[in-house]
Amino acid sequence: MTIVLQLPKVKRIEAERPQKCKYCKGELLQRWGQVRKQIKDTKIRQVKAYRYRCTRCRRTFRHYPAGVERGMQSERLKKLAVICWSFGLSYRGMEGIFSAFGVNLSRMSGWRDVQVGGEAIRRRKAWQPTRVVGVDGAWLHGTGVMVAVDMGDGQPLAIGAIDEKDMSSVLRWLGELKQQHGIGAIVTDDLAMYRGITERLGLGHQVCQFHVRRWVGRMCREVSKKLPEEWLWMIERIKQIMEELPPDASKQFLELYKRLPGDLKLGQKRTAVDQLRRLLIRLSESWDRYTTFFHDAGIPWTNNRTEQAIGKMKMRAKLTRGYKTPAGMLNGLLVSSVNLT
Ligand SMILES: [Zn+2]
Repeated sequence: MTIVLQLPKVKRIEAERPQKCKYCKGELLQRWGQVRKQIKDTKIRQVKAYRYRCTRCRRTFRHYPAGVERGMQSERLKKLAVICWSFGLSYRGMEGIFSAFGVNLSRMSGWRDVQVGGEAIRRRKAWQPTRVVGVDGAWLHGTGVMVAVDMGDGQPLAIGAIDEKDMSSVLRWLGELKQQHGIGAIVTDDLAMYRGITERLGLGHQVCQFHVRRWVGRMCREVSKKLPEEWLWMIERIKQIMEELPPDASKQFLELYKRLPGDLKLGQKRTAVDQLRRLLIRLSESWDRYTTFFHDAGIPWTNNRTEQAIGKMKMRAKLTRGYKTPAGMLNGLLVSSVNLT
């Protein structure tokens, strides 16, 4: 994680005059008195602001020193709050740290700072080109969320308050992401839904190899318990193909499939041989999606980075009790999982 600590400067007084009237953009301004302003900052408690009067529209306005705006908090304090949050402090923890430095930052203000930080990240990422994206669903604070991670840098690209079970919403969300970022391929776990979605959207598709190996291994173990001895060699053959990933694996699975007797009658219970047949046809048909990474060096063979990002968010979500609107939560999670620069 690279964090560049570049805190905005805060001045006590601003020597430079404003260039233009903030209302009418008129350029001829008269100084019109001065005011003192209390601020919340790590070093400065009070700044001096000049008032100016525009000779064109005759309105007056305050011109604050660098790092100070209309609100109480300095820009430096806002940025520090966001950094504290991204380092894993809770809002209560932030309140404590700042009070140790004589600054009274309420939990609510800390939360607001993080929200603004999250929005800034969203704006910055809005149209960033991203070729390969890892996609996965998670459950945070009782809300279903979808997370998209840029496989180039491992950073979250977008989080949506969408339940992974709601296929039409996932489709719409991924369609928008594809348009905004020019996505070419996605990496997912082995849900059948993603097959339909990638076909509809014309996206390349890699199914995470860890997921494939896990469920194939489980199926093999299950089936081999009941399988007639004469077919047990097939289980070994499947394991071998999964290990070696030969280029003609799809064909090999199909040939194995054809050698098994298939006589499942309606209403009959599925036998171990039927299960093995189903496993083989599924592997044969999906093989392209399991091995897309062979043909494209930019596509990883697992969805690990996405799972890591989600793991980080889940840890973070434990500390965000109280503010449970999905949008607020997502901004906070985005701030906590993106590199700050
Ligand atoms: Zn004016």
